[in-house]
Amino acid sequence: MCGIIGILGTNNASAELYTGLFAIQHRGQNGAGMYTSEGKDSVLKKDKGLIGEVFDESILEELEGSNGIGHVRYPTIGSNVEQDAQPFKIENPIEMGMAHNGNIVNYREMVEKYDLDLKSTCDLELILHVFAKELEKESEIDENALFVAAERTMDNLNGSYSVVTLIPGLGLFTFRDPRGIRPMVFGKKVNLDGTSFGVASENTVLDILGYKVLREVLPGEAILIKEDKSYQARQLKNEKTNHCMFEWVYFARPDSTIERINVYEARFRLGRELAKEWQKKNKKLDVVIPVPDTARTIALALAEELDLPYREGLLRNRYVGRTFIMPDQTSRETAVKTKLNPIIEEVKGKKIGLVDDSIVRGTTSKKLIKLMKNCNAEEVHFLVGCPPIVSPCYYGIDIPTQEELIAANRSIREIKKEIGADSLTYQNIDGLVKGIAKKKDQLCLACLDKEYPTKVREDIRDYFENMRRKERETVEGKKN
Ligand code: SF4
Repeated sequence: MCGIIGILGTNNASAELYTGLFAIQHRGQNGAGMYTSEGKDSVLKKDKGLIGEVFDESILEELEGSNGIGHVRYPTIGSNVEQDAQPFKIENPIEMGMAHNGNIVNYREMVEKYDLDLKSTCDLELILHVFAKELEKESEIDENALFVAAERTMDNLNGSYSVVTLIPGLGLFTFRDPRGIRPMVFGKKVNLDGTSFGVASENTVLDILGYKVLREVLPGEAILIKEDKSYQARQLKNEKTNHCMFEWVYFARPDSTIERINVYEARFRLGRELAKEWQKKNKKLDVVIPVPDTARTIALALAEELDLPYREGLLRNRYVGRTFIMPDQTSRETAVKTKLNPIIEEVKGKKIGLVDDSIVRGTTSKKLIKLMKNCNAEEVHFLVGCPPIVSPCYYGIDIPTQEELIAANRSIREIKKEIGADSLTYQNIDGLVKGIAKKKDQLCLACLDKEYPTKVREDIRDYFENMRRKERETVEGKKN
């Protein structure tokens, strides 16, 4: 998962991108980059690390121009290295820079089909080259050619991709995969300086920068915003949508609204639905405690529904990143230890309902339950806002290999035992769908029910699993 932003027609694009990228730093902490332009001149800067580490005042000054795209990177497939940071740029058939959020399933097939010699393992480089090759086929590279090339790119790519492209001297061109798996919105700002346009992974970026969100970029749609501030949108594909449920459960900011569903409100409903599952157990709790931060809203709603006190029993160190999106097991385990510390007075002698948004590997859950028990909690009952994750994600979330997923080959009773909980209550899929408030067939639930919205061949699944395994070993090896 990554975060993207595109800005056109402002006074200082890099300043807006810098502020905007901070608003989506949660979508990726591994790398950051910007590509800006003024007329035909352009500048590209990117590196490994957090936004504050990659950019300083002097770099931002170099990133001149009123147009720009920005990216924060989260590695799924693709190594954890500098050359995979986005945006990427290309010179032929025209100069353009591109960034995306998502993951391409038929990567190897496309590399062969287009006979590409790629310099990175980042699938954005593939998208950029496929798009450029399709553009090259056009006799004239004009506005129409961009839409034609985007449509052919969509015909060929299998996976999730919300793409933003900056073409110096022409404008901002954005398109989203036909299933709409990853989010993207676009908006407009009118002030004394004039009119500018923005696109972003989450609407909060545009809100913070003073843009009025006009609407989502529709699944299968492409939009060209020209430097003269006119724009045109074309619906290139019409397919069944499958928005990723994990955006509402875990990934997106609670103040974001995705597909017209506010994330905070969705999490609140998830808490209510989870309470219904808990009530079937007929057990007693003294207090509800969330695993901060994502699970707070779910826990709050659950406590309200069960008429129980809600307490902050775990203190989160804000300066340690999200454990789930850390690239290897060693950094995840160290981070859990330094990240969450129990408040003994809220835990001691109590029957605790400990609420988390999801369980992926189970490492964090196990450690937290142990922490609570070490503080003399009488009982720790674990409640989870998302149903069991039983299968990997091929669309941009780093849900790991089958063998790493705690729920892939275990019953709920076995998971409960493995994490050391006194009971374990999962949300069910109907509760999840009700909480998100979209129709079930509008969502991707593949990591829960193995119904992948696009074809993922067996050999491709093996390839992804092996890549992930190899990358983990490499990262672990480097650390040891
Ligand atoms: S498989 Fe799961 S995490 Fe991946 S896109 Fe689908 S719902 Fe989201």
